[in-house]
Amino acid sequence: MLPRRPPRSGSIGFLYLPPYRVQGISIAGEQTAVQIPELDVSFDVGLCPRPILASPYIALTHAHMDHIAGLPYYFSQRAFQKMGVGTCVCHEKIAGHIQSMMGSWVELEEQHTPHKIVPISDGQSIEIKPNIHLKAIEAKHTVPALSYAIVEHRNKLKEQYKSLSQLQLRELKKSGEDITHTLQIPLVACTGDTEMGDHLFTPEFRNANIVITECTFFEDGHRGRASLGKHLHIEDLADLINVWGAEHVVVTHTSRRTPTDYIREKIDKVIGCDDAHRVHLLMDHRENRKRYENQSIDSQDCNEDA
Ligand SMILES: [Zn+2]
Ligand SMILES: [Zn+2]
Repeated sequence: MLPRRPPRSGSIGFLYLPPYRVQGISIAGEQTAVQIPELDVSFDVGLCPRPILASPYIALTHAHMDHIAGLPYYFSQRAFQKMGVGTCVCHEKIAGHIQSMMGSWVELEEQHTPHKIVPISDGQSIEIKPNIHLKAIEAKHTVPALSYAIVEHRNKLKEQYKSLSQLQLRELKKSGEDITHTLQIPLVACTGDTEMGDHLFTPEFRNANIVITECTFFEDGHRGRASLGKHLHIEDLADLINVWGAEHVVVTHTSRRTPTDYIREKIDKVIGCDDAHRVHLLMDHRENRKRYENQSIDSQDCNEDA
């Protein structure tokens, strides 16, 4: 009898939440890497599924192995495939350790892998695309951890100048007057691994249109386990969903021991039908495939109508 073939490696979760794709793999304790291709960012790189290589930035939430182990490979493959030097943005407290890890790889491989490590602290931002900023928000986990928000900075004409003509505006500008102010629009927020805390109630989390959130525990009796590991429980998520205005909430970091159907049931029960439709599970491949098929039927209908 022939031996069995090895199991296929994990499929990549995929959601199209216009105008952004949210894709990657996130299984608690195994691996987490969640990418928004349009915004050039992947949150974490636990392992490095191939699409993640295309993100010029890794926004590292914390350094548990299942969130960071793919980082040296990410740097190395980007160099090998001539994709430009990758950048890892991380908590200032761990930047030195990551730098040392990359230093060890130089010695092991006897060659230098180009890499960029950018320390960041609570409240700081870096511009990752024109007018698109990655903002760090201190999180609460068992190790130094960050949540992130991706915020668009949009220049708007100041109210008092709105009635002026183009010519008058140009004159004002020439005279050195600052005629615009900057609106900050949170596009996406990502909790990373965290327990409940004030950082999840900041304007970035309240106002982002997409929130990517961990939720590791769903059973009624598992609140204690959640707080021990400093993770979110479905009941925390129910409180947060009331406050977050997001059209889409993407649940990641679910555990392999919790069946998807059970998670869905709990979401319906604890969060309630009014809000459950806003919640997507990154790793619910069956449901997400159905959703995408409906989206493609809708887009064909639109094309035919046009
Ligand atoms: Zn984790
Ligand atoms: Zn963790």
